[in-house]
Amino acid sequence: MSSAEKIAAIREPDTAAGGSLVSVVIPVYNEAANLRALWARLEPVLRACGRPWEVLFVDDGSADQSLDILREIAAGAHGAVRVVELARNFGQHSAILAGFRQCRGEVVVTLDADLQNPPEEIPRLLAAIDEGNDVVGGWREERQDFAYRRFASHLHNRVTSMIVGVPMHDYGCMLRAYRRHIVDTVVACDEKAAFVPALANSFAKRVAEIPVGHDERQSGNSKYNLFRLAHLSLNLITGFSLMPIQAVSLAGLLVFVLDTLFALLLVAHRIFFGPQEEGALWTLFAVAFFVLGFILLAIGLIGEYIGRIYIEVRKRPTYIVRAVHGEEPEAPVRR
Ligand code: UDP
Ligand code: MG
Repeated sequence: MSSAEKIAAIREPDTAAGGSLVSVVIPVYNEAANLRALWARLEPVLRACGRPWEVLFVDDGSADQSLDILREIAAGAHGAVRVVELARNFGQHSAILAGFRQCRGEVVVTLDADLQNPPEEIPRLLAAIDEGNDVVGGWREERQDFAYRRFASHLHNRVTSMIVGVPMHDYGCMLRAYRRHIVDTVVACDEKAAFVPALANSFAKRVAEIPVGHDERQSGNSKYNLFRLAHLSLNLITGFSLMPIQAVSLAGLLVFVLDTLFALLLVAHRIFFGPQEEGALWTLFAVAFFVLGFILLAIGLIGEYIGRIYIEVRKRPTYIVRAVHGEEPEAPVRR
């Protein structure tokens, strides 16, 4: 059965299912070539999971046919699918936050649109939530990405685990499930540069991680280049901890103490042995430049924090919802 036939085949809601509503939030940025295949796999999984569900696609300012395809999917899904259309590209995590705001589920699952996260893993995430976890993260044990991405992620996970205080193998995997109160808290933070998995973990009491499959991107390219990844990591570090600036202060103190000792040594040398030879002058130059470089670095870091304060104080919206397609939230939820 083709995906179009499958979509067309959805007519009546499934028979009443027990359990609370599950929302699936999917950020979409130029994924036209993947969306029908995604829906063809996701929809049967949700129908089979035996509880009411809804899907929220967040179109993050796609320039291709993504929005049209999403609206087509929503039109055939009888209220089970809504499409949140953002006014422009705000980034994956902002798109997820937009979906969080609109969804109603007691459990909220996030997933990428490029089929790297197999939708078939969703029931396992839900089972882990049912065991009493607030957050369940997928762990891509066998990642289908380039080596540089895997290395960058390894570093990212170590740093994130440390600053969030919740160790996890895979903070970057967006195949995750959250309980409602976690989603509410994340939304209430209204952060401008939020990294959703880390923020959610910082509010969770019980966090679990389960190994999940990971496939190659079905079609198209990753939206993350090294620069975007580095930017995400820097936002994460400065957004969660004062550690970098504190480390700079400590190092500054150490340099100051060493510098004072060095100066005393030079004075003593001059008193007891007479003036320096030329070599010592160069040493002083080297020290001066070292201190200068250090100060510049410190200023840069302080600037990073001031920048963040500025962004928060400005209170500009993180995203702007232009329209919500599909049925009204009051409409009966598909089972
Ligand atoms: N995405 C998004 N906005 C962006 C970048 C990405 O909504 O600005 C979506 C994208 O469509 C996909 C998910 O976020 O569904 C993950 O993106 P991608 O696959 O490019 O990241 P990677 O798998 O390489 O980490
Ligand atoms: Mg991907």
